Amino acid sequence: MCLFCEIAAGNIPSKKAYEDEQVVAFYDIAPQAPVHILIIPRRHIESAQTLTDGDNELLCHMFAVARKIAAEVGVAENGYRLITNVGRDAGQSVPHLHLHLIGGKTLNWNN
Ligand code: 5GP
Ligand code: ZN
Repeated sequence: MCLFCEIAAGNIPSKKAYEDEQVVAFYDIAPQAPVHILIIPRRHIESAQTLTDGDNELLCHMFAVARKIAAEVGVAENGYRLITNVGRDAGQSVPHLHLHLIGGKTLNWNN
């Protein structure tokens, strides 16, 4: 199992922000901003590049979860960034699709 599959399964501990049958959200271990939460599908999908049309509902749900968490942690009003890195050139270090929800400060384009 990949690292994030292990986190989703609860085999590796994480500080959870949200979870349901389809997705898990947890605090990044090396936060790049005051708020830095990762939103992942429970099912292993390597990256945005390997999504299929069958994942449309899941992807919408991941964004809905992002909105809910953003409101809960208090960044919805001031704004935040959702990022998903794809592959080597983007610096994707964990090969399991994840949305970074980053905020809590004014973000520069490179953070
Ligand atoms: P990527 O670089 O693939 O876009 O993002 C992977 C993210 O996962 C990084 O921001 C990194 O800090 C985070 N990360 C890596 N290992 C762990 C871990 O074991 N626990 C948590 N909570 N975050 C992790
Ligand atoms: Zn995985």
